[in-house]
Amino acid sequence: MIQNQLQIIGNKIEDLLETNHREPYSAKLLAVSKHHPSQAIQIAYTAGQRAFGENYAQEMGDKAEQLADLDIEWHFIGPIQSNKTKLIANTAHWVHSVDRFKIARRLSEQKPDDHPDINICLQVNIDNEATKSGILLNQLEGLAAQVSTLAGLKLRGLMAIPMAHSNPKQQAQSFAQLRKALENLNQKGYQLDTLSMGMSNDMPIAIAEGATIVRIGTAIFGQRID
Ligand SMILES: *Cc1c(COP(=O)(O)O)cnc(C)c1O
Repeated sequence: MIQNQLQIIGNKIEDLLETNHREPYSAKLLAVSKHHPSQAIQIAYTAGQRAFGENYAQEMGDKAEQLADLDIEWHFIGPIQSNKTKLIANTAHWVHSVDRFKIARRLSEQKPDDHPDINICLQVNIDNEATKSGILLNQLEGLAAQVSTLAGLKLRGLMAIPMAHSNPKQQAQSFAQLRKALENLNQKGYQLDTLSMGMSNDMPIAIAEGATIVRIGTAIFGQRID
């Protein structure tokens, strides 16, 4: 089941890239395994999946310990409390959800010397939603400037979880805004290559708008209780 779904989604990503005149393999599948057991990760790993996304620091730390023999790339994608940064800095190869300098500074300070540099995406609150994490677009440049100075971190790009729209055109607009924000930073001299956007329900639109990492949970692992 998990193997089949991985294959189906992998094929779908390549089809979508081709349809949108993008390079093969220019969007990567992040398998979001939150609230699914380590055995599910093990099955996906055996099927060839290497990048896994988790939302809870403790859960990611526990799974990384249980699966320490596997060559997994761990991505942290959930909201970050400052008392959890150490756990995250010990394990994560990527953190997609940095939205304030304090969190980035703590990750930089707490990363063990023998842990590779952590790839960072800044999370943008693209639709200005009061309940969502993420920095507002008009503060993004300031945060990028601060984060890019920190040792042990590598600023790679932007992440967003847009509001769900039933109208695909409106949905596409949110993703397009994130892409423009990345282009804007690159025009100012940054060299960012990552747009982390698109989940099980909106992956095709995200890929059409330039996603380079799609974060897919339910469509791979099935429903979770959360
Ligand atoms: C849970 C989660 C996902 C995966 O969502 P699905 O709808 O299950 O594909 C992606 N990104 C973030 C930030 C999440 O929290």
